[in-house]
Amino acid sequence: MIILRDFCMEDSFLHKGLRRKLVEELREKGITNTRVLNAISSVPRHLFMDSGFVHFAYKDKAFPIAANQTISQPYTVAFQSQMLDIKSGDKVLEIGTGSGYQAAVLLELGAKVFTIERHKILSVGAQTLLPKLGYRPRFFYGDGFKGLPTYAPFDKIIVTAGAPEMPEKLVEQLKPGGQMIVPIGGEDKQIMTHLKKHDDNQCECSEHGAFLFVPMLKGKS
Ligand code: SAH
Repeated sequence: MIILRDFCMEDSFLHKGLRRKLVEELREKGITNTRVLNAISSVPRHLFMDSGFVHFAYKDKAFPIAANQTISQPYTVAFQSQMLDIKSGDKVLEIGTGSGYQAAVLLELGAKVFTIERHKILSVGAQTLLPKLGYRPRFFYGDGFKGLPTYAPFDKIIVTAGAPEMPEKLVEQLKPGGQMIVPIGGEDKQIMTHLKKHDDNQCECSEHGAFLFVPMLKGKS
């Protein structure tokens, strides 16, 4: 449920209408999972961006947020969420909290979300905003390459920054039968990679096209 505390947190009919249009655009681009489309139509993306960008919030584009990072493109958020086939009750680890938008979409899908961010300013920003909107993931400020061994294993892991190679510690923290989605590559493009960990712990990867993310970097900032 969304609690509107002041004018700046408004989610108007105009915003809802723009979200319906965005959902149509995502459907045309190949997002078929209705639970994912419903989640996108529920999350007020304009509240995750600086108010100056409010008119761009429902364009299918990535946009700048603090610390030189970006809020992912809605298509990318929908694509990664659809690939992971999030079920209600799934325990999901997200690397790269950023604005908190992807975490909100995962929560709308019924997941229990653990999210890590390496930039303090972004982690604190998301920790302030999301509860105001009724979204309550577990927040962690730290290096996502390390994952969260204390809380492992996870049903699903979503990496929302471009990883230079398969992050092995995250693979270890996946349950047998679990899945991970991670863009892998250099700074100019990454290949969306889906990893399935079978019940015997053997892993199988498949590739799903080129995307562009900000880089996954080691350490905290
Ligand atoms: N999921 C975010 C996307 C943000 S962009 C959203 O919905 O807005 C990717 C984010 O990953 C950035 O905020 C960046 O700081 C963060 N990041 C990059 N490397 C990281 C790492 N090793 N651990 C945690 N976060 C990382």
